Amino acid sequence: MSSYSNPPCAACKFLRRKCLPGCIFAPYFPPEEPTKFANVHKIFGASNVSKLLNEIPPHQREDAVNSLAYEAEARLKDPVYGCVGAISVLQRQVLTLQKELDATNADLMRYAGNEIPYPVMNLMLQNNQQRNDNGAGSFESSSGFSDPYSYPWGHGNGPSGERGGDGSS
Ligand SMILES: [Zn+2]
Repeated sequence: MSSYSNPPCAACKFLRRKCLPGCIFAPYFPPEEPTKFANVHKIFGASNVSKLLNEIPPHQREDAVNSLAYEAEARLKDPVYGCVGAISVLQRQVLTLQKELDATNADLMRYAGNEIPYPVMNLMLQNNQQRNDNGAGSFESSSGFSDPYSYPWGHGNGPSGERGGDGSS
């Protein structure tokens, strides 16, 4: 009896049919958002939407409906390009910002180059190069440092082991 008092979902109201329990549209098209269904129906068609919703698992249906609603709204605003129009505008923005970022980074490098003397810069670059070589596993061929992890001060007799007697007396 209580189902009679429930208002029909936006889809059933729009299609002028009875909203039965288990209506596929009801969870995603509440009566408070009538334009959501109207847009989706206008662009995709109610029967296509119900077919699509039946084909995908329930936990993905809300995302699918939101995507359809977004696409439908974009298509109504821009009948030629739809949401592709918005995507290409954003892609152009990303490209412009990327170029700006590259230019700013180049400026920063130039300023840093003026402040740090060139020999130091070269040394920093060499250190980076060596670290990369070690990472690649080619340290065995590079002379004296056969094992990068054995330091001259690090063979068992660390500071903690030697200082133990000193502290107690
Ligand atoms: Zn319904």
